[in-house]
Amino acid sequence: MTNDLNPTIHGIRVDLAALQTIRHKCHPEVCRDCPSCCSRYVPHVSQSELDRIVGCFPIVARYTTGIKNDHGFKNVFEECDDASYCIDANEDESCVFTYAKPSGETLCALHSVALDLRISPVDLKPTACSLWPLTLSNEAAPELSIDKNWREFPCNTLSDNGSRMDAGIMNIVASCFGVSFLKQLL
Ligand code: SF4
Ligand code: SF4
Repeated sequence: MTNDLNPTIHGIRVDLAALQTIRHKCHPEVCRDCPSCCSRYVPHVSQSELDRIVGCFPIVARYTTGIKNDHGFKNVFEECDDASYCIDANEDESCVFTYAKPSGETLCALHSVALDLRISPVDLKPTACSLWPLTLSNEAAPELSIDKNWREFPCNTLSDNGSRMDAGIMNIVASCFGVSFLKQLL
């Protein structure tokens, strides 16, 4: 079933009104002095995402030593009850894949490794991270919406575009679901 406000595309129900509500641009310098999304949430990854990430550990370790121990690499994934895995957090609750630049910004080692490898970060990072501040529920009929706490992060602002979706939100949709998905949404 599809309607204008909640279209269903490729089996995903989209809360279009929610997506039109916000503007988003990731500027790690704006969350330097406050909790970033990477210290607020514990991302879940699927088995295939885990395998992809672990395959890059030797390069990831150039950015963050939190994944290493005396014998090689730690297991930084905990099995969850929904057949996915949670990524471990550091003592300060930041994701184990975060690292700090000398200037203070917190960055994602997986994102940096993807750029080093000249692949899209969405092909290495957990889907939940690539989507944020969008969210995809894990029901049989998943819904694409926005994080209910979006206002707490300085990289998200209320959109004044009316029914026009913000370029930053469109970019996330196109990266994660493809340009044709975005076109159907518009
Ligand atoms: S998406 Fe926002 S909260 Fe997350 S790292 Fe970027 S600026 Fe910080
Ligand atoms: S995997 Fe990367 S983007 Fe996701 S929470 Fe960890 S550091 Fe942040």
